[in-house]
Amino acid sequence: MDKTALFSLSYGVFFLSTKNGEKINACITNTAIQAASSPDRIAISCLNSNITCMMIKMSKVFSLSILDSTCTYELIERFGMHSARDTDKFAGLNLPTDKNGAPYLTEQACAVLTCRVVDSIDLGSHTLFIAEIDDAFKVSKNPPLTYADYHAKIKPKPSAPESGKKIVGWKCKICGYYYEGEKLPDDFICPLCGHPASDFEPVYDV
Ligand code: FE
Repeated sequence: MDKTALFSLSYGVFFLSTKNGEKINACITNTAIQAASSPDRIAISCLNSNITCMMIKMSKVFSLSILDSTCTYELIERFGMHSARDTDKFAGLNLPTDKNGAPYLTEQACAVLTCRVVDSIDLGSHTLFIAEIDDAFKVSKNPPLTYADYHAKIKPKPSAPESGKKIVGWKCKICGYYYEGEKLPDDFICPLCGHPASDFEPVYDV
C-alpha cells in the first residue's frame, strides 16, 4: 500500500480548544468535517496522546475556530508544535471564550463553532468525537485555510542539517515519536500521528 496516497485527501486547518474544570487548552488539527445537517453535527479526530484530546473526553465540549488564509506560522507553531506539558500556550493572549469557557480566535480565523460531544469512538491512535453544533458564527470574510495551502504557503521549508553534527535520529514535531537512525526515509509516515517525514526534525549526537 502506498500510504502517501492518503496525502491526497483534502482538509481544512483548525484551532481546537476546550475547557475542563479551570483548565483551558488548545491545539491545531486538520481533521474536522460536518458529519450531518439535521441535526447539525461535526466529527473531529484527535490524537489520543494530545492533552486537548484527553480534556475533551472529560469536558465533552470543544470550540473549533476555522483558520483562514491570513493564518501565520507563529499561531500554528504556538498551538500545534508544543505541548501544554512544557509550555503555556496562552501566555500573553487574552482570547474570548464561548458559553462553555473554551477560547476561540477572532483573528486569523473565519468562523467559530461551539460543539458538544454526543458520541466518541476510540480508533487506536486517535479518538473520533461526534458533536452537536450548539452555536456558529463568522468572524471574517477571508477564505478558509486548506491543509494543502498550509503546506505550500505557510509551513517553513526544512532547514539544512547543521554542518559538522552527526544526526542520530528524527523526532516528530507533532507527537514526539522518535525514529532512530541517521536517514529518515522520504516516504516515512509517523506511526503514532500519521504525519509525513517533513514534520520530523533531526536529533543530533551530543
Ligand atoms: Fe507523530
